[in-house]
Parts: sequence; structure tokens; C-alpha cells
Amino acid sequence: MQFKTIIEPFRIKTVEPIRHTTRAQREAALQQAGYNLFLIKAEDVLIDLLTDSGTGAMSSNQWAGMMRGDESYAGAKSFYRFEQAVREITGFKHVIPTHQGRAAERILFGSILKPGDMVLNNTHFDTTRANVEYRQGRAIDIPIPEAHQPGLVHPFKGNMDLDALAHHLDNHWEYVAMVMMTVTNNSGGGQPASMANIRAASEICHRYGVPFFLDACRFAENAWFIKTREEGYGDKTPLEIAQEMFSYADGCTMSAKKDGMANIGGFLALNNDEWAEKAKTMLVITEGFPTYGGLAGYDLEAIAVGLHEALDEDYLRYRTRSVAYLGDILTAHGVPIVQPPGGHAIYLDAREMLPHIPPLEYPAWALSLVLYLEGGVRSVEIGSVMFGLHADGSEAPAAMELVRLAFPRRVYTQSHVDYLAEVILYVYGMRQQIRGLRIVQQPAALRHFTAVLQPAYGALLAV
Ligand SMILES: *Cc1c(COP(=O)(O)O)cnc(C)c1O
Repeated sequence: MQFKTIIEPFRIKTVEPIRHTTRAQREAALQQAGYNLFLIKAEDVLIDLLTDSGTGAMSSNQWAGMMRGDESYAGAKSFYRFEQAVREITGFKHVIPTHQGRAAERILFGSILKPGDMVLNNTHFDTTRANVEYRQGRAIDIPIPEAHQPGLVHPFKGNMDLDALAHHLDNHWEYVAMVMMTVTNNSGGGQPASMANIRAASEICHRYGVPFFLDACRFAENAWFIKTREEGYGDKTPLEIAQEMFSYADGCTMSAKKDGMANIGGFLALNNDEWAEKAKTMLVITEGFPTYGGLAGYDLEAIAVGLHEALDEDYLRYRTRSVAYLGDILTAHGVPIVQPPGGHAIYLDAREMLPHIPPLEYPAWALSLVLYLEGGVRSVEIGSVMFGLHADGSEAPAAMELVRLAFPRRVYTQSHVDYLAEVILYVYGMRQQIRGLRIVQQPAALRHFTAVLQPAYGALLAV
């Protein structure tokens, strides 16, 4: 008998209490935090979907691995286990550990970018863009046009626009330092890229001698979507699919806080000897010796085990199903979300839901605040607060106004998801009362982390 119910493929050995608060407490917390959910204390959050980054539950095997951690300064056994796990999956020659994904980005771009250089990407993640721009490079997004239509169902909305890629390379290949493919496309809705698209992008780049890298943070989820959606991959294992994805690339940056299933860590992996040499020099100056790169030996062990657990089919089926389950409930009730549901998150379409709030009164930010106020749920805005401020200080609306509800790995169960659905439907019912905000204080870059805001019309909700 093939039973239909998809269950959490684990049982729980350690529990961590979460705390209910009153609406009045949350209202006060919001005021104190300058209406910025990044500045709310975690203990004041009931269900924390701020990010799936580093927030996952580790397995008993990972904890066991950590006890094996070799803390030798140089040449630790843990490094070689880590290197072997990364090599088996990616096939890259040089494996450089870093303390998290953005350190891999900084070291990569710091080693190779000159001012004015371009980096093309299906969609740059916020830290990736910031690291390119910090080196005075130009970060250019070229997703397929379908990526900008939240309600449109497309199996591989994370694909890169190959015509735009060819056009850029035809016209100014000499300024393109590298092309990156983010799998899955995080800022674009957690949407996968197909193997055909990855292969074709790689071929175009190599025709011009331009390096092609993966931003591989969610490589396992991307592999799962290829397995379940792309013809010819149904019988392959997620590992085989991941290996093929990496085979088209010259290197990758990775945050092990995502599909590394670890709480911290990352790596840069690549084939080019000269770049690896430069990157290792930079690593020694800013992160640590090349066999630990800012991580403890036990972190390397947790990642070595986690990278393979992320490719487990039961896990990937449960993970994508949990996200789709919430997506199905919301869709059935008419709540506009990015379709189809992505790998690690549901994205609410605030532009569609709150047409009465102009983009520069931050509709998605407002919606995320009301989800917290009413239900103690923490989400994150992916909209004009995150992407509206440019390096020259000018402000313009982002392409989309989304609220991301990111699922930590192996942390929440179905009853948590049912509660979430109830909160979102309740807030959806009061959407006409939600009002916009204005920014009263902000830093020069990555402003969403620390900006202070205020309701533009006295309160978040009209009475
Ligand atoms: C998280 C993430 C990064 C940055 O990794 P950190 O570990 O947070 O520094 C880069 N790219 C993508 C697509 C990500 O999701």
C-alpha cells in the first residue's frame, strides 16, 4: 500500500519552547523596534519565518559528527571530510571554507572584480549585489520575463533570460567579469532554474570565455524541482542531478546555512588555479587559514554531513510539500502569492493585496508588520525597503513587493503551518485597513537590517 500522507521524516529528540505574547505586547515591541522586524527580539516571536538561513534543526548524525570535530589549526581531519563532501557533490578542484556565504562572495569578487566590471545573474541576492557594488562592479539581473509576474505559473521561473545574456555578451563581453546563476532564485521567489537553462547559460558564457558560477545556496531544492518537473530527470537521484548542475559551472559560492543544513558556514569552490590562489590569500588575511576559513572543526563536520542530508529524497519531499501545503490553502482562499510556491518559502504578493499603498510607502513591509502584530509571525519584506535604495543614494520602487515566509529546515510541523494559514487569512480579511510607512532613519547600504520606520498615517491599521 502506498500511503498518501507526507509526514515529517524525523522524530523529535530535543524541544525548544516558543512563547505566546499578547497583541498589546507585540504592539509595544514593534514601537520599540522602530517598526523593523529585524530589530525585534526572537523571544517575542511565536513562529519565526524571517529566514531559512542557519535556523534549521541539525540531525543526530550532525551532532555526532561535531563530537568528531578536529580543532587542529592546520590540516584538520574535519577539513578533509568537508572537502571530500563538497568535492563529491560539486566536482570542483579548490574548496575554500568561509564563515558564511557572503564571505565567499566578498573573497571571490574581491579577488577578480575591477571597477566598472559587470556581473550578470538571474537575480542577485542582496548580499551578492552589495558585494559586487562594494567593489564598484555593476550587478545586473536578467531573469526571464515570467519572473516578474507573481501570479503566473511556470515550472522554472528562476531561469535566466538567455537572449538577454547573449545580448550582453555580444555587446560588451569584455566588461562581463562573470555570470552567476542563483539556484534556487531567492529574491525572485525561491524559484528553480531548469537543467536546460543552466546548461545553455553555461554554453553561452563559455563561447565568450566568461566564467559561469552558481550561487548554490539551495542547490538541493533546485535539484528536487528538476527531478519532479523536468523531463528526463525523474529517475535520477538528487545527488546525480546536483552533480550535473555543478558540472556546467566553473565554481560556486555557497551558504551552508541553507542547503548545508548547518547553523553557520559556507564555501567558495572553483577550478581556476590562479583565482583560487588569490582567494586563499584574501582568506588568510580576513577569515582564517585555508583548512578552516573562519569555522571551527565541528562546523566543518556538521556541513559535511548536512550537505548529503539535504539531498535525501524523503526530506526534500517533506520540505517542498510543507511549503506547497501552505500555498494551496492560501491560493484556495484567493490570497495572492508567487506561483507556484518556491522551495523554501511562500511569498505573499503585497502589491496585488494592498493596491492602496504606494510602493514608496512600502506595502510589503507594512504587511509583514501586521502579520507580526496579529499573529506573532515574523516574515521578511522583499520589496522597496530591501531593494529601493541605490548606491548613488537615489530611491526607486523595487520590481516586486513581496513578503517572504521562509521555512527553517526540519523545525516546524504541520500544526504550525495550519496556525500560519489561519493568521494569514485573518490578516488578508483586514487588508483594506493596512496603511503604509515612511523611513525616518537609514544606513547607506542594506538598509532593511537597521532602518527605523514610522506609520505614515499615525498607525499601521486604519480604524
Ligand atoms: C543566504 C544567501 C546568500 C548569502 O549567504 P550568507 O550565509 O547569509 O552570508 C547568498 N546568496 C543566496 C541566494 C542566499 O540565499
